[in-house]
Amino acid sequence: MVINTKLRPPCFEQNAYPVTKTEENKVFSQENEQPRLDDRFLRYQMQSAAKYLLPRNRVGICLRHQIEQYGNVDLYKHRETQKAFYGGLMVCGSVWVCPVCASKISERRRQELKTAFKAHLDTGGYCTMVTLTFSHSARDKLDELLLALGKAMQIFSRGKRHDNFRKEIGLIGKIRAFEITYGENGWHPHIHLLLMHDTEIEPWDWSSMEDRLYDMWSGACAKSGLGTSREHGLKMHDAAEASTYIGKWGDLMDKRWGTDSEMTKANIKKGRSGSMTPFDFLRVIVEDGDLEYEGKYQEYAKATKGKQQLVWSPGLKDRYLIEDKTDEEVATEKVESADLLGILTWQDWKYILQNNLRYTLLREIEVNGYESALINIGIQKKPTE
Ligand SMILES: [Zn+2]
Repeated sequence: MVINTKLRPPCFEQNAYPVTKTEENKVFSQENEQPRLDDRFLRYQMQSAAKYLLPRNRVGICLRHQIEQYGNVDLYKHRETQKAFYGGLMVCGSVWVCPVCASKISERRRQELKTAFKAHLDTGGYCTMVTLTFSHSARDKLDELLLALGKAMQIFSRGKRHDNFRKEIGLIGKIRAFEITYGENGWHPHIHLLLMHDTEIEPWDWSSMEDRLYDMWSGACAKSGLGTSREHGLKMHDAAEASTYIGKWGDLMDKRWGTDSEMTKANIKKGRSGSMTPFDFLRVIVEDGDLEYEGKYQEYAKATKGKQQLVWSPGLKDRYLIEDKTDEEVATEKVESADLLGILTWQDWKYILQNNLRYTLLREIEVNGYESALINIGIQKKPTE
């Protein structure tokens, strides 16, 4: 039976600039001359799709509601990047469901990871990454998997064998990164552990250590009602692989899509090759008007609510002089080096929201300047000749 899920959702965000033509945005990839949407436009669109799918979620207020009721909305221009952005608006701070906040938060987290990683290696330390996963099927419910995974992680990280492992490698601290993808076999939650340690794992010890860790992990999985296999359950990665992982951390736009061919895209959509991230669910809606993953996105939003994506062991941030800021704090942080261009009244803002012009206004300002932008989007009248 073929289920037709192709429904065109309402227009989310207008775009007077459907294709960016600047080199920096790599609009035309070298291999195939496929035009590509501006990343920020895509993030705004995806955020609107998230709002559409999650009517009672805070993502619906993000960059829409003013901080003060009937308050003004400020327009700024970043001095370095020359990008226009809004002030005076609420943000949701959700790294899980909001592509706009996730992008900002992930960028910061990536810098923090890089800083710690570099500082640790520079002082003669070692870094090893361990990826932990388990067997799952398309019938599994995400919230149940996450519950079991949490339990397995707890069992894995305590007990005599784990203590011995810790002593053996001289573990200083660890960072736990939590990821969820979706593919042919349903939800695929997995964990990357970045271990900062001061004793080198000798190359000849590598595979026996991996075996021992796998034993601990499969035992923890069994006690939590999860199955696992030696082939996929646990993998150790060296510092170089860890570095590559950190370098790509949270980059929403560094995806297989956009530059890849339609063929690959179709395969990803069907979950055949590799996997999708939950933000890819939104991308499918934005790019194809396809609501196939509506239920999956809702299930994901519910299951991840209140969960932390990245957890540093106690004292580790202090050690590398990294300021401890919550996702919400990072998302609401002010850009210091920016110029105020102008102030919009709440009526102007209402007009912008009603006409889905949040993105267009920023782009207009960057291309044509503030005054012309207001005229072009219809907030100000053209001066009479
Ligand atoms: Zn947000």
